[in-house]
Parts: sequence; structure tokens; C-alpha cells
Amino acid sequence: MARHNTVDDLVGRAREGEPRAVARLISMVEDASPRLREVAAALASHTGRAQVVGLTGSPGVGKSTTTSVLVSALRKQGKRVGVLAVDPSSPFSGGALLGDRVRMQDHATDSGVFIRSMATRGHLGGLSWATPQALRVLDAAGCDVVLVETVGVGQSEIEVVSLADTTLVLLAPGMGDGIQAAKAGILEVADIFVVNKADRDGASQTVRDLRYMLSLGERGAKGDSSWKAPIIKTVAARGEGIEDVTDALDEHRDWMNRSGERDRRRQLRAEAEIEAITLEQVRARIGDIRGQSTLPELAKRVVAGELDPYTAADDLVDTVSAS
Ligand code: GDP
Repeated sequence: MARHNTVDDLVGRAREGEPRAVARLISMVEDASPRLREVAAALASHTGRAQVVGLTGSPGVGKSTTTSVLVSALRKQGKRVGVLAVDPSSPFSGGALLGDRVRMQDHATDSGVFIRSMATRGHLGGLSWATPQALRVLDAAGCDVVLVETVGVGQSEIEVVSLADTTLVLLAPGMGDGIQAAKAGILEVADIFVVNKADRDGASQTVRDLRYMLSLGERGAKGDSSWKAPIIKTVAARGEGIEDVTDALDEHRDWMNRSGERDRRRQLRAEAEIEAITLEQVRARIGDIRGQSTLPELAKRVVAGELDPYTAADDLVDTVSAS
């Protein structure tokens, strides 16, 4: 294998910020390349620095506009920025999709910005599996901030939240968002609220509705938290209010570090990730032994009433562990 193709060399080049190496590594994790394990191992010691920021909200609320102006604002601060646009409705990945995302082309020639779209439809385990690996690549590539945005239909909103250090929930006036947000349980997970389209009538009303809803939930689970999610009004289309958003991102990052919340969230995230990978491996091994007699034999005994399905499952777990 040519030297420039070894995983260690790719990781080295990614760490120097070479876009092609970053893209190649993301493809490898996304395609579950046979070298995935090698990639994960090579990345491990170079990660943990980036602030992962999830953007969520109903379609049309202004997520991609906000992402683009946030990239500009963070670049002005000299930060290296990654963008993962996750599309749960599309089977197409890579650069092609971004052709449609005209706003992002403002950043296409900036070497301090890595933009990648990931399609998760049809991927085993969806977001929970591929996206954290891609985040690690961008983290290792020296991104100070990685913005994770859901494009297309928003089924995976909550999943994006579970990946982030800081979650931005976007709302806009007149979209009935408040009620939708409450339904989706998204209010509890927001670290920062952005009321976008503040140039439209009703923005102040949206802020008031939000304050009211938050006050109702204040005695809830998050009541003991010393972080109170700020509500920021923006006009993303004109870049207005974006500095307030970057200030809030900094404040939240500092609070996360001070309070230990960052480590707590990352611990939970790593636990969930290990669990997901383990389940995947167990599934794969069951697939491997399907051709053998273990599972059909156990099933026969369950059908015959000799064995209950729980004991049979214990037996299968033992067999799989030993394999
Ligand atoms: P997404 O689906 O959440 O990613 O939303 P987009 O960023 O694609 O924005 C949806 C539409 O809202 C686009 O036509 C934007 O130009 C428009 N838009 C975004 N921000 C603003 C804003 O602050 N004010 C107004 N009036 N329109 C906006």
C-alpha cells in the first residue's frame, strides 16, 4: 500500500488540515470501510477538543442560513470550523448534495472550513452510528467548533441533540413552533434558543410564548441546573444577532467546562456509543452463526415448550460471546 494511503498518514494529513484527507477519512467511517477500526484507533488520541454544536428546529426556520452566517462569524474569530449537514431523508452522501446548498458555497474556498453532508437513510443504526465517527475526524482535524445541522425532514432532531455539547433550538414567528417544540420535548434539551426571522411580525410574541413555556417547566428535571438557556433574536438572512449567538456559545462552553457538565454529557455519549456498537457486533455475530444449528435448535426447544425464550436468549448470548 502506498505510504500516502496508510491510515496513520491520512490522519496526520487531516490533522494538518488537508481537506482531501479529511474527506477521505469521513468516507471511510461512513462507508464502514474495513479499515474503520484502524481509523477509529488512529483518531482516538487526537479528539476531545472541538465544541460540537447541534442546530435543530423545524424545516424552514432558518437552520442552514444560520449555519452559514455562524461559520462566517466564527471564522472572523480565527476559529477552524466544521459543518456536518445530516440528511436523514437522503441516501446520497458526499459533496454532491452541497451543490444545492448555495449559501455554503460562500465558504467553499476557505481552507479553515470543512463542510460535509452525510446521508443516513438506509444506514444501519443511522445517525447514532456514522455521525459520531465523522465528528471525531473533524475534531482531530483541529476544528474548534463543529456545527451539526439536520437538513431535509426533521425526524432526527433529537438524535442530533444527543451528539452535541451545545444545542441550539431555532424557532421562528408564525410557524406554530412553540407548540411543536413542546411536543417534541425539545425545550428541555435546548442550551440556547434562537428566535430567527426577528424581522417578521410576531417575533416578540414568540419570545414571550417561549418564556412562558419555559417558566412552566422550570420546576422540572432541569431545575437544579445553573445554566438558564438564553433566548436570542436573530435575522439570519442579514446576519443580525449572530454575535450574540457566538457569545452565548462561548458562555455555554465555559459553563460546561466549569460545571463538569461537558464531561458528564461526553461520558453518557460514549456509553451510548459503545452500547450501539456492541449491539451491532452482537447482531453481526448472530448473523454469522445463523448458518449453524444453535439458533434453530434453541427455537425448536422453545416451540416444543422445553425452554422459555429468555433462557434461550441467554444461551445465544453465551454462544455469541464464545464465538
Ligand atoms: P432551514 O430549512 O431551517 O435550513 O431554513 P433555511 O435556512 O433554508 O431558510 C428558510 C427560508 O427562510 C429561506 O428562504 C431563507 O432565506 C429564509 N430566512 C432565513 N433567515 C431569515 C430571516 O432572518 N428573516 C427572514 N425573513 N427570512 C429568513
